[in-house]
Amino acid sequence: MMHFSCDVCGTDMTQNGAERYVLKMEAFAANDPAELTDEDLETDHVEEMARVLNDLEESDEPPQPLPTCKKLRFDLCLACFRKFVRDPLGRESAAKFDFSPN
Ligand SMILES: [Zn+2]
Repeated sequence: MMHFSCDVCGTDMTQNGAERYVLKMEAFAANDPAELTDEDLETDHVEEMARVLNDLEESDEPPQPLPTCKKLRFDLCLACFRKFVRDPLGRESAAKFDFSPN
């Protein structure tokens, strides 16, 4: 038997009648590397890249290559689904964070 629990709050949604919502997200780089313009190849960018690479070499942690495409799937309970639909990117909570006394 499949077991479902909310990926946000952990509510058990296995029992019959529990409302369960599936959230699928797909994020990918919108820039097509084949569409580089002359502007992209300006010296400034090369220098900037050299600086970034230099910074990376100096840091202790190895650089993590970003995936070009990321697919995510979440199971949500009704309450968390409602919250997500109202504020998909968590901007409400991010705004609150900005107002913190720190
Ligand atoms: Zn939930």
